[in-house]
Amino acid sequence: MRLYEYQAKEVFRSYGIPVPKGYLVEEKSQVGDGLKSLKTKDGVVIKAQVLAGGRGKVGGVKFAYTSDEVSTSVEHMKSLEIGGYKVSEILLEEKVPVRQELYLGFVIDAVLGTPTLLASSRGGMEVEEIARVFPQFLGKVDIDSAYGILDYKVREILTRIGLPKNLFGQFITICKRLYEIFLDYEAILLEINPLIVNEEQNLVAADARMSLDDAAVFRRPKLKELRDSREKSLEEYLRDDYQLEFVNLEGNIGLVSGGAGMTMTAMDLIALEGGTPACFMDCSANVSPEGYEMALRTVSSKEGVSSILVNIFGGLTRMDHVGEYLVEAIKKIGDIQQPITIRLEGTNAEKGRKTVKEAGFQCYETFEEAVKSAVALGRSS
Ligand code: GDP
Ligand code: MN
Repeated sequence: MRLYEYQAKEVFRSYGIPVPKGYLVEEKSQVGDGLKSLKTKDGVVIKAQVLAGGRGKVGGVKFAYTSDEVSTSVEHMKSLEIGGYKVSEILLEEKVPVRQELYLGFVIDAVLGTPTLLASSRGGMEVEEIARVFPQFLGKVDIDSAYGILDYKVREILTRIGLPKNLFGQFITICKRLYEIFLDYEAILLEINPLIVNEEQNLVAADARMSLDDAAVFRRPKLKELRDSREKSLEEYLRDDYQLEFVNLEGNIGLVSGGAGMTMTAMDLIALEGGTPACFMDCSANVSPEGYEMALRTVSSKEGVSSILVNIFGGLTRMDHVGEYLVEAIKKIGDIQQPITIRLEGTNAEKGRKTVKEAGFQCYETFEEAVKSAVALGRSS
């Protein structure tokens, strides 16, 4: 789950990290009030609120000095699509005069299994680019969660990347506050890029990126509020409302399966047979008519899907029920265009297969047969 810049900045502000004064608008009629509240003398930054980075390069970040210019920019930005997202909210901010742009981030190092602090004296560009172009100015500090942020370790890195000494104190304070947020919100990524050095030699977070662990939302009421105030992605919607684990891919076989391991295996078998999976769709957490209906609706309406494969194995789950649910779901949807191949195995599977066959669908006992059939049908339809 990724937060919008303005949401992340509210969090930063509440933890004492300096951010520019801001005002969120949805249309240009709100610009007047916005400018009154900002009372800025150095101009305004106009920032499209989309869940994509690199907005600066594609017109999602603009500067303006008069109220007319701000209104024109806001109107223009509303017509943009950035990284596949329509722009519906725009953040107006006081423009901070810049002396230097720094980078500060926290990520999880998947190999060490620890949070890692990344710092650079060359901010403003993507961290991957910093790593490529200025590796000598990018530093990494692995954090032992028993000790948290140790000043001397950060100082060592800041010295190496050539950060002016007078900024060390502020930088380390922001690191510590950001780390608190990292823990409190169960973040998987936090980024301030750029972290601006202003004319008074103070640090200000000009941009804010926060990605949180979806699996932690249930135990963090704070996160639930943030999530409710923005649109859900299809993946989040399917997970929250239907307990379906869905990963969108670009293939032709619409896979509906039970269990993460078996879904992965099904994807491998599909590939072996020469097909490509259109998605990973694990229904094992919601074995109900509604669960299957939603799963089938999603894969059948996906572009490029030429064949659907339903692959369910159940021990505790009764396959006679699953057979009925599937038939019911398909009937209810009514207009599935693609051929459907079903494989049922496990408790009461024979009964389940009978139900499915009687309803007029291809039904198999073995995994291999079902995958072969689904891939062949995908080729011919
Ligand atoms: P991104 O392109 O989506 O990462 O958007 P950013 O918020 O990082 O903005 C892009 C660039 O605009 C930054 O790297 C800065 O150079 C510039 N920028 C953003 N906010 C300010 C500001 O308050 N003052 C000044 N002078 N430049 C800013
Ligand atoms: Mn940025």
